[in-house]
Amino acid sequence: MWIDSHCHLDAPEFDVDRDEVVARVRAAGVQAIVNLPGHVDHFAQTKVTRERYGRDFCITGYGIHPMWVAGPGGASAREHIAVLREWVEREKPDLIGEIGLDFFIPNFNQAEQEWFYAEQLKIARDFDLPVSLHVRRSQDHLLKHLRRIKVRGGFAHAFNGSQQQAEEFVKLGFCLGFGGTATYPQANNVRRLLRDMPLENIVVETDAPDIPPSFLGTMGSHERNSPEYLPRIGAMLAEVRGISAEAFAEATTANVCRSL
Ligand SMILES: [Zn+2]
Repeated sequence: MWIDSHCHLDAPEFDVDRDEVVARVRAAGVQAIVNLPGHVDHFAQTKVTRERYGRDFCITGYGIHPMWVAGPGGASAREHIAVLREWVEREKPDLIGEIGLDFFIPNFNQAEQEWFYAEQLKIARDFDLPVSLHVRRSQDHLLKHLRRIKVRGGFAHAFNGSQQQAEEFVKLGFCLGFGGTATYPQANNVRRLLRDMPLENIVVETDAPDIPPSFLGTMGSHERNSPEYLPRIGAMLAEVRGISAEAFAEATTANVCRSL
């Protein structure tokens, strides 16, 4: 049985057929998903999803995504940190996420992103919760704050950094998340990390509806990804790793459970 350690089942892409998707996810052999919103306006739907599909299936986080800090479509105000704290206190989620830093666009709101990230780490620390991290050209900055604000660890999702940076995250209690990107033969760095990192530090994820795997299209395409594809993605990743899909499923599922 598999666990999808990072996805967004509340995304509007699933509004038309969420029940059917969940039925297919369960039938495919996925025992649970980690479902994460990225904006306070989405928290209510995340709560509904958890209630509808059950706490055991729907492992739930709350958090403000770095691209929503001042992204297109609605910026997050600093007051939203207090809103997040209230939700965490009341709803008792399993983790904080998706939070992090995205420096793909150079100098895009870096200081504000770091403020939101640090404040959310403090919430994770105060409630003793793991975090799900968005890491994009920001590994060293993420690590800097993690050394200062001690959290329980969690998941560094869609990890694509150096071996040394990967080891630093592991030292701080994190598992590295691998998914659709690693299904592309040209993704050399990600596939090398997937092969070389200790198995006990690896989890699998879809990031659905994003990051479609190679069997859905080309790299960077916009086909809808879904947690129902996790076993197929996982089998491809197991092949990169050189172990059976069953052994890979068992190990990565245990890693998620241990991290929560
Ligand atoms: Zn995500």
